[in-house]
Amino acid sequence: MRVLKISRDQLKKWLDELSGTVDLYVPMPAGKQVHRFEPYTTFEELDLSYTRTVLPPKKFVFPPEEVLFNRAPSGETTVPDLPARDLVLFGVHPCDINGIRILDTFFSSFDKPDWYYQRRRARLRIVGLSCLPDEHCFCRSMDCDSAASGFDLFFHDIDPENQDRGEKVFFVSLGTVEGDIMLADRADTLPEAEPEELEALLEYTERRESAYTLDLDPSILPQAIKLHQADPLWDRLGEQCLACGVCSLGCPTCTCFNIRDTNDLEGGSSRVRNWDACLYRDFARVAGDHNFRPHRSERIQNRYYHKQVGFAEAFGKPSCVGCGRCIKLCPTGIHFVEVFQSLARERLPVDE
Ligand code: SF4
Ligand code: SF4
Repeated sequence: MRVLKISRDQLKKWLDELSGTVDLYVPMPAGKQVHRFEPYTTFEELDLSYTRTVLPPKKFVFPPEEVLFNRAPSGETTVPDLPARDLVLFGVHPCDINGIRILDTFFSSFDKPDWYYQRRRARLRIVGLSCLPDEHCFCRSMDCDSAASGFDLFFHDIDPENQDRGEKVFFVSLGTVEGDIMLADRADTLPEAEPEELEALLEYTERRESAYTLDLDPSILPQAIKLHQADPLWDRLGEQCLACGVCSLGCPTCTCFNIRDTNDLEGGSSRVRNWDACLYRDFARVAGDHNFRPHRSERIQNRYYHKQVGFAEAFGKPSCVGCGRCIKLCPTGIHFVEVFQSLARERLPVDE
């Protein structure tokens, strides 16, 4: 893969130009230590050293709420259009790139791939950006700390703490032909990284590796969960959990949704899909008011089981990329990694 160099000034010029031809979203500060992907305004406003956004990029391909179709009083049915321009997400971290790849797998796995997801995905271009882990990240454990594919371009910032240095340079990997096209002929004019610069990139990667403070061995998790389905830990977690659903809503790989019909007073109606969460009390409630998982302990266990066992058995890998959002967002401090450490390290039968 070719690695090119682009200066901070060239990056600014490129984003300024790109924002005129596509819908460009970038990571922006939205409060103390809070970031969101927002439409690009000026280069000075975006934050290239952010750690994570509150909501993951999944909201662009699987929105929190989406009208599937409208039905007029005449009976005519229409599907809302999407904007004609491509949507470019700049600054997506490796865990979130891997999260979108998991969504791609899930939404194309039905007999008929999810058309609503596919059409949003088709207009999405992904520009990755390297990052440094904080105390909630465990993407390395989930093998999602780098992205071999799933991006059109990837920017490596080997000096993320220093954004204002005048001669600052980013290294750029080309992922797809679309990425090359996005650079608008610059790929031929940008210099390739010199061997000693690639060495510096490697050193940065090693520095990043050593910055992780959370560690987990995912290979033993399925066994740990299966063996300990009756463990009192689940009851304690059930007592602690508020069933607020935030861990699911903020998760880049959670895909539960609900569908409802709404009516207006003129006789029109809409079918709407919105995010749901398996932690909600009514998630497994069916006709006759029967609830398959009435207790919070059952619902939280189900979430962990699904992520590390159910999804992995169906698709060959767990549906967790180690982004740390559920850890950071949980209002009662339920810690994804500590739960598994408790199950896996202390409770697995010890080999004689
Ligand atoms: S389960 Fe938690 S750490 Fe894993 S991808 Fe979802 S939000 Fe991130
Ligand atoms: S964020 Fe925490 S309290 Fe809320 S549903 Fe998830 S585990 Fe329960």
